[in-house]
Amino acid sequence: MAAYDTDNIFAKILRGEIPSQRVYEDEAVIAFMDVMPQGPGHTLVVPKAPSRNLLDADPSIFGPLFTVVQKVALAVKKAFGADGVTILQFNEPASGQTVYHLHVHVIPRFDGIPLKPHTGGMEKPEVLAESAEKIRAALAAR
Ligand code: 5GP
Repeated sequence: MAAYDTDNIFAKILRGEIPSQRVYEDEAVIAFMDVMPQGPGHTLVVPKAPSRNLLDADPSIFGPLFTVVQKVALAVKKAFGADGVTILQFNEPASGQTVYHLHVHVIPRFDGIPLKPHTGGMEKPEVLAESAEKIRAALAAR
């Protein structure tokens, strides 16, 4: 497996070198909107510790990471009035991974509505900002 690349896009977001619509941050984990959402409210939950994906991650991150995945899943479900939530996580190119810093996709789901393609079209910044605001409000109301 290739080594961790410190110039991957999520490492740059973590360092604040490129912008993101953040909805959550603690000492170990951040969450922000996916710019190519597979549905409204598609959020990425990202540990701060560097690893390429789940396969090379220090297992000590999984507790904090999935604690935030659950918080964000509950918040997006509430914020978007979703019927369910899909959690996705890809490891290496063969699986569909395209950004090589461990992350978990949290996607609100609605009965009868399929997911849009993975890494499809870019969403408008104002739509992402509005989604982030709704999720932050749902997280704050917990
Ligand atoms: P992966 O295929 O690695 O599981 O997913 C990477 C995700 O990151 C994709 O869903 C893609 O839309 C998203 N993404 C790619 N570049 C950026 C970016 O610059 N900012 C944000 N917020 N998301 C990105």
